[in-house]
Formats: sequence, structure tokens, C-alpha cells
Amino acid sequence: MNISGKTKIIGIFGYPVEHTLSPKMHNAAFKYLNLDFCYVPFSVKPEMLEIALEGIRALSIAGLNITIPHKERVSAFLDKLSDDAKFIGSVNTIKNEGGELTGFNTDGKGFMKSLAEANIEIADKRVLIVGAGGAARAIGYYLCRDVSELYIYNRNIERAEILTTHLYTFKNNVAVVEEKIFNSGSSFSDFDIIINTTPLGLKSDDPLPLDVSMLKNHQIICDLIYKETPLLQKASAIGCKTLNGMGMLLWQGVFAFEEWTGIQPPVEVMKKALMKQI
Ligand code: NAP
Repeated sequence: MNISGKTKIIGIFGYPVEHTLSPKMHNAAFKYLNLDFCYVPFSVKPEMLEIALEGIRALSIAGLNITIPHKERVSAFLDKLSDDAKFIGSVNTIKNEGGELTGFNTDGKGFMKSLAEANIEIADKRVLIVGAGGAARAIGYYLCRDVSELYIYNRNIERAEILTTHLYTFKNNVAVVEEKIFNSGSSFSDFDIIINTTPLGLKSDDPLPLDVSMLKNHQIICDLIYKETPLLQKASAIGCKTLNGMGMLLWQGVFAFEEWTGIQPPVEVMKKALMKQI
């Protein structure tokens, strides 16, 4: 890399940040387009978040990605939020314009693009989201506009209710799935698409996020985790169409890149850089 005094820095704040795949994806795109940008990971402890953001103003860092565990807290320290970041209540992308920090959320848009790319139609579909954290909020914000019915299950039911009430103010087609119903699995065949947004499946000894024996082969099963999780493997064995979170990771990065640079990035180059790391 040809770093000079003019090179613009983009960072990612996370804790831990060691396993991030984003630097190679963005640096490959910068290199391909010959853009004088460089993407660097920063390990930022939760208690250092505010001071680290002051640092990006002080150091004129051009932009950031924000990852676990900062996505929700970070908005308090920004000057402006995009409409989607405001509604979703979390930020994964920041642009620094002369010290003014604007927060965006490209996760939901990225997930929707990955569905479209996989030819998964959501119009008039009944969709279940498992989990009610930041990622569920991001995709729920976009899904509820087009699906016929959106259902949310979470082990902490209060969190599912809060998300449902929040989305309901936007579109009145959202409801909670109670634990008893979810655990019986009896309603599963009512859903055209089921999306796991919990981290269950990241570790090899994790339990499955739902009872796969109740799935039917006409259903589409998605997982936001960017690998073939046991959930996806078992659903696939039943004959379900499946989608992992790799496309979401790619497209949230593509939309973030566009915010920082105003340029459409080379998607295939970014995809290749991601795949190489898996
Ligand atoms: P989060 O805000 O911490 O939310 C996690 C959700 O999972 C909560 O609903 C939580 O339930 C539930 N959960 C956690 N552990 C669980 C367990 N042992 N059993 C049942 N439910 C459990 O996290 P997030 O930001 O939404 O991220 C969630 C997942 O999406 C992560 O795996 C992340 O890697 C993935 N993700 C992928 C992309 C991508 O680009 N592909 C982007 C964003 C996120 P409670 O409320 O009950 O705690």
C-alpha cells in the first residue's frame, strides 16, 4: 500500500475486532479502484467509545464501521443520524465530514439486497424473525414494508414485544410469537421464510435456534451468521432453500463504501476478498 499524507483512513471499531473480515474486503476495493484510502481495525473497549469517537474527529479519520458491542450506544455521540439509523436505533457506518459525524445503518439494506440477489421474493410472504437484537431490528425495519405478516420470537419476550411495538408504528403487520407456541414448533409450517438473527450456530456446541424437525421443504431458512450453520445444513437436508449471512455482510459493506466515497465499489472484488477468508 502506498500510504501518504493524503491517504484517507476508514476504521472499524469493535471489541473484540480481531476476527473482522471487513478490512480485506474494503482494502481490496480501494486497491482495485486505485483510491487513496486505507481501512484499519481498532480495538475499542466499551468504556473508551466516546473518547475514541473524539479521536476520529481529532485525527480526521474519514469514516468508520461500527460492530459489536457498540452499534446501539454509538448514536449518542454522533451529530446526525440517517432516517433508517434513527428508526432502527443502531449504527454500523459513520461518515466524518469536517468533524461532523453522521451515523447510518446499512445492515438492513444489505440483508434485503442479499435476499434479492438469491432470488428470494418476500412480497406477500409470512416471515418469522428469531431474535430481537440489533440485527433483527435492522432487517425488521425493511421486511415489514413488503411482507404480508412479520412475526418475532425472542427468548426474552419483553425485547420481542418492544421491537414489535416499535415496528408496528411503521406498519401494522407485526406480531410476537409466544414461547409456548415457538417451542411446540406447531406454527412453523405457517411461515414462508424463517430468519435466525441470534448468534446460535457460531460455536460448534451451540444448540439449534429452533426445532428443525418441524420445517417443511417449501420453506426458506436464512441465517445472519456468515457460514453454513447447523441450522442451514439441517434445513437444506430437508429440502429447504437456505441463505447464510455472507451476502448481508458483503452488501452492508458495499453500501457503507458508497457512503464514505460516493463511488460504487467493485462488488465482485469485495466478494472474492470475503470468500478468500472463509
Ligand atoms: P444482539 O443485538 O446482541 O442480539 C442478539 C439476539 O440473539 C438477541 O435477541 C438475543 O436474545 C438472542 N440470543 C443471544 N444468545 C442467545 C441464546 N443463547 N439463545 C437464544 N437467543 C439468544 O446481536 P446482533 O447485533 O443482533 O447480532 C446477532 C447475530 O447476527 C450475530 O450472530 C451477528 O454476527 C449476526 N449479524 C450478521 C451480520 C451480517 O452482515 N451477516 C450483520 C449483523 C449481525 P435476548 O434478547 O434474549 O438476549
